[in-house]
Order: sequence, then structure tokens, then C-alpha cells
Amino acid sequence: MTEIDPSSSAQSAGLSQRYGIGTDRHRLEPGEGLILAGVQIPCELRAVAHSDGDAVLHAVADAILGAAGGTDIGDLFADDDPQWKDLDSSIIVERACQWSAAQGWKPVQVDVVIHLERPKLAEHRDAMKAALARQLSIPVDCVGLKAKTGEGLGPVGEGLAIDTMAVVQLQRAGEK
Ligand code: MG
Repeated sequence: MTEIDPSSSAQSAGLSQRYGIGTDRHRLEPGEGLILAGVQIPCELRAVAHSDGDAVLHAVADAILGAAGGTDIGDLFADDDPQWKDLDSSIIVERACQWSAAQGWKPVQVDVVIHLERPKLAEHRDAMKAALARQLSIPVDCVGLKAKTGEGLGPVGEGLAIDTMAVVQLQRAGEK
């Protein structure tokens, strides 16, 4: 991914916060569980994916890259590259954080929405929030996470897909 010249970036325009949005979708098929926000979710489904299929971390990584003025995780991890087969998606977020740090930004807040018909995620919500907080090195009360169903409608409602959305706030690295 192309490095940004700080002299032409928002830093020189005096911005101290940046916001990014990321979304993701994976098809679901019968399997031995989902991984969401780095947390194992026991169920009889799996996400169809080249990586571990963690739709939460993929949306978060894209939001981080977007806020820092980058593009998307496909730039860092091509989905047809054999070396990224079954990749642990925490590495994707780590790389996104490293890239944003190189531009002078660090995450300070994240808010995530998961659209999934089943399984219900309420019992895993605290674990997912804690995992996101650890991954981004932010307090857990700076992590939002909501799980919603598709009300029986569309690919999510029919149990064929998981959709996710994340919004991330970045702050200039070094600022409190
Ligand atoms: Mg994905």
C-alpha cells in the first residue's frame, strides 16, 4: 500500500481525529463453528473464506485502514494468495494497526454491528468486546458491539450469510 506523505495529510490540516467505516460479508455453510472478533463461537456453521473468516475483524481492519487514508485489507492480504490460507484474522488487524501507526494514527474507539440469524451471540458478547479491546489496545468501554438478526429476510435472514459493519475512531498517536 502506498505510504502517505505526512506533509499533505490531514495531520498538517490540523485534524486530530479520523473516522473509518468497514463492512464484510461471508457465506455460511455447515461446519464446526464461527470465529468472530477472534472468539470461537460454537455452532453448526462455518464461514466460507480463504482466511479464518472472521467477519468482525475484517470489517474492523478495513475501518482502521479507511480512517488512516488507506484502501482495504485486500491490498495487504490477497484472497487468492496461498500463504494467507486459513490466516488468523488478528494478524490482519495487527497489520492494519501497524499501517495506520506508520501514518501517525492509533485506534481509540470501535463500534461493531453483526447481522447473523443464528446462533444467538448474546452469551459471547462480553468475550468479543474484551478480545477487540485487547486487539486494539483500548479500554473495553471504548468497544461497542451489537448483534442483530435479519428478521428472516434476505441472505442473512435465511441463514446463508453473515454481514458485519464497523466504525473506528483514530487519534493522532502520542495524544491522550
Ligand atoms: Mg472477510
